[in-house]
Amino acid sequence: MTRERVTILGSTGSIGVSTLDVLSRQRDRFEVFALTANGNVDLMARQCQEHAPEVAVMADPEAASVLRDRLARAGSPTEVRVGSEGLVAVAESDRVDVVMAAIVGAAGLLPTLAAAGAGKRLLLANKESLVMSGALLMDAVARSGATLLPVDSEHNAIFQCLPAGYACADPVHPHGARRIWLTASGGPFRERALDSFDAITPDEACAHPNWDMGRKISVDSATMMNKGLEVIEARWLFALDPEDIQVVLHPQSIIHSMVAYSDGSVLAQLGNPDMRTPIAHTLAWPGRMDSGVEPLDLFSAGALEFAAPSLERFPCLGLAYRALRAGGTATTVLNAANEVAVEAFLAGEIRFPEIAALIEQTLSALAPEPAKSLEGILAADARARDYAKDWLKRSASPR
Ligand code: NAD
Ligand code: MG
Repeated sequence: MTRERVTILGSTGSIGVSTLDVLSRQRDRFEVFALTANGNVDLMARQCQEHAPEVAVMADPEAASVLRDRLARAGSPTEVRVGSEGLVAVAESDRVDVVMAAIVGAAGLLPTLAAAGAGKRLLLANKESLVMSGALLMDAVARSGATLLPVDSEHNAIFQCLPAGYACADPVHPHGARRIWLTASGGPFRERALDSFDAITPDEACAHPNWDMGRKISVDSATMMNKGLEVIEARWLFALDPEDIQVVLHPQSIIHSMVAYSDGSVLAQLGNPDMRTPIAHTLAWPGRMDSGVEPLDLFSAGALEFAAPSLERFPCLGLAYRALRAGGTATTVLNAANEVAVEAFLAGEIRFPEIAALIEQTLSALAPEPAKSLEGILAADARARDYAKDWLKRSASPR
């Protein structure tokens, strides 16, 4: 059997490392074609030694030259490429079958679009690319015949609860599905006193109770913007109206999401909170394979709880629905303002509640436009970043 060749965009991140862990258990089925990272040379060098990819890409040019020297000294045959062109090249190469899109944020957009346009089997973790330009990405998939499989645990759960033969972008209603339930843990501040939110530190925001993730998505989970981005992601993956996408707090993170059918049935996917499950599912689909994840022990799982999220506690969730309803480039603006705000919060430049305030101001200031071209999307993204950075200069009040 010829092995499938895999590119991992963002191999040094949380999803990238989990993907390599799954692949290392399946060496007879998969080989690593390319690994990519931004600047983490140490980890990339170790990954190249262990997985011997044909190509390694560093987005940062200085990191690329350090890696090149280091691999040359070690006698490694891996070719080192650089920058955005390098990322796009390994996403669309004829030599690759499967692309794991696991770069964080807007930096993932171009290589993810390239993989979609080249008709790859696209395993999508980079939700920001759908939030920025859902219509363009889904168009690229439809035109090229790419196979799009969701890695985000909620969307992967929903995909698993839809009938065999369902393909992303198909409306779910003809399959008898009426609505979906996206589960949300509520993050570290689900019960924290609201009057202490000003004092929240970056480390507190990154200490997620159930999942071990990169810092940006950890802050997104603490504000619940992550769930907002996932509502928008679900709108595109499953062709749903905002009204048919419901968020429910479920602090145990055992049920990863649900589909409600017209006959009253609700189907759920359960498992331990470990991203290797959805990663292995998308790699093996339509089959199954070992992921290394501990089996779920229902006897020790205890009670499963559900509650409605509070928009007073989590205003970012409301902002995401607002941007989705506004349409066009509003979700591009939402994503850009959120990235600027999270970076500023992690750098200690703004307080936790100002993340939502900055996004709200940016959304109100910039009217949405049709999201029909990549140029239009990138222009809206740049305008929103400029506005948000300007707002930071005028209004931020560091802790
Ligand atoms: P992370 O911060 O741990 O890793 C990000 C990866 O992207 C790293 O390899 C980094 O080198 C690379 N990167 C960062 N900036 C870059 C740039 N400018 N150019 C090129 N590469 C760059 O992030 P993560 O937690 O692994 O999340 C990755 C994506 O997966 C995000 O879109 C996130 O929303 C999504 N996701 C993550 C999880 C999770 O459990 N971690 C779950 C669901 C979805
Ligand atoms: Mg998720």
